[in-house]
Amino acid sequence: MSKKAIVIGAGFAGLSAATSLADKGFEVTVLEKNTQAGGRARVFEQNGFTFDMGPSWYWMPDVFETYFGRFGKKPADYYNLVRLDPSYAVIFGPDDAVSLPAGIEKLQAVFDEMEPGAGRRLLDFLKQAAYKYDVGINQFVWKPSRRVSEFMSLQLLSDVLRLDVFQSFASHVRKYFSNERLLQLMEFPILFLGATPANTPAMYSLMNYAEISMGTWYPMGGMHEIVKAMVKLAEEKGVTVLLNHPVKQISVTNGIANKVETYQGTFEADVVVAGADYQHVDSQLLTPEYRNYDDRYWNSRVLAPSSLLFYLGIDKRVPRLQHHNLFFDEDFGLHALEIYEKPQWPTKPLFYVSAPSKTDPGVAPAGMENLFILIPVAPDLNDPDETRERYYNIVMERLEAYVGESIRDHVIFKRSYAHSNFMADYHAFRGNAYGLANTLRQTAILKPGLKNRKVNNLFYTGQLTVPGPGVPPSLISGLVVADEVAKEFG
Ligand SMILES: Cc1cc2nc3c(=O)[nH]c(=O)nc-3n(C[C@H](O)[C@H](O)[C@H](O)COP(=O)(O)OP(=O)(O)OC[C@H]3O[C@@H](n4cnc5c(N)ncnc54)[C@H](O)[C@@H]3O)c2cc1C
Repeated sequence: MSKKAIVIGAGFAGLSAATSLADKGFEVTVLEKNTQAGGRARVFEQNGFTFDMGPSWYWMPDVFETYFGRFGKKPADYYNLVRLDPSYAVIFGPDDAVSLPAGIEKLQAVFDEMEPGAGRRLLDFLKQAAYKYDVGINQFVWKPSRRVSEFMSLQLLSDVLRLDVFQSFASHVRKYFSNERLLQLMEFPILFLGATPANTPAMYSLMNYAEISMGTWYPMGGMHEIVKAMVKLAEEKGVTVLLNHPVKQISVTNGIANKVETYQGTFEADVVVAGADYQHVDSQLLTPEYRNYDDRYWNSRVLAPSSLLFYLGIDKRVPRLQHHNLFFDEDFGLHALEIYEKPQWPTKPLFYVSAPSKTDPGVAPAGMENLFILIPVAPDLNDPDETRERYYNIVMERLEAYVGESIRDHVIFKRSYAHSNFMADYHAFRGNAYGLANTLRQTAILKPGLKNRKVNNLFYTGQLTVPGPGVPPSLISGLVVADEVAKEFG
């Protein structure tokens, strides 16, 4: 008889863990709260527009190859990936923007224009970053990080030193470049990790390698195509995905989680993998004696930012926009301060606009534009409609000044999304969007552990545990936890 594995949550990590467990012979049921799989990467359709609700940057295509490759498949079996060129535009002011081309030589020329000699130094920087990517993505992120001893091989220890774990990204990048704009370009991918460059270890220059050398990609149809592919693969492996099944309790007897209770019924388990937000599972689905961490622990964590999002359907094309547009036209330091040091609604926010209809005619009606606007903001803020509307107008003023035409008069669909939505939809701790920040003190064994210390058959996966936030890490997290489960219960 196969052992029964219950996976809570059908986000990337839950689906990844479920598929891998089924592949290893477990009988797997995924219990998902929402009516659609994908978690933060759900999708909705309105007025002929298809809006991806969360991730929009497809980086590290090799990780997706590895994921599908584990099961004898490749991404191309499920979706059509295109490389974006230019990769993205950075806007410094209404008449001041730079496009980042996809090829390294063209990119070097852009760097040289901003700072003489910077093109050559970019190559030096990337050489180092390539090494970090190799060690970081091919070795470190695959460690379950349950014991320090996992990192004790001589090779890995010497790698750790070469990885610049103890130097900040901000000081590392300043050894190569001094032009303020170049620094912003190089620091942008770090923002994905949820902390400031000054608080992020320099080893994360691997993100620059991912972005520049491996490229920015887009799955035609949108990011949710990845989710559809994963669900299809999971079902091919025999996984049962039950939507609209919010879990209300994990029942534990003598240190063993033997039942998972939903409003629809109770599911027996030999092993449980929780892919829902870690803090929610720990604090709300378990009785206090079985929690891995107490409130003090959670309250002392540094969360990655939350976001205020707008999904807009525009009844015309907006020629000046590219697929990805970063508005760095205000002081980054002030915005960062108001996210991390003095959490509050930002005075002058930076923001990001994605227009997937630039690449994909299928996500908007003909002659129209699909816009997704993201303003990174501190977690745990109140997000009433008036506040959302105020920020809508702040960013629209700047967006319209840049594109040189009215957009607000052409909005035929508008939906906003912020903290309270993240909490209601995903049980997100303090309304976080991307889990925990990747600071040095929240890396590897210092992250919330992937196994419960008091419940022998309860494991965690997803962006709040190892290796961290982002789509590729979430896929890896699911595979890593499935390997750990199989070692103990397979
Ligand atoms: C706005 C936004 C933009 C982003 N942009 C990018 C990007 O461009 N590129 C990138 O790589 N990453 C990006 N990310 C990060 C990436 O989307 C996440 O790291 C990743 O999707 C997290 O996956 P997960 O499986 O850990 O969690 P989730 O996607 O949150 O999945 C957890 C699932 O558990 C379910 N659940 C919760 N509670 C229960 C319960 N009690 N019972 C049953 N089910 C439950 C939830 O409904 C959810 O489906 C972005 C995230 C956001 C929010």
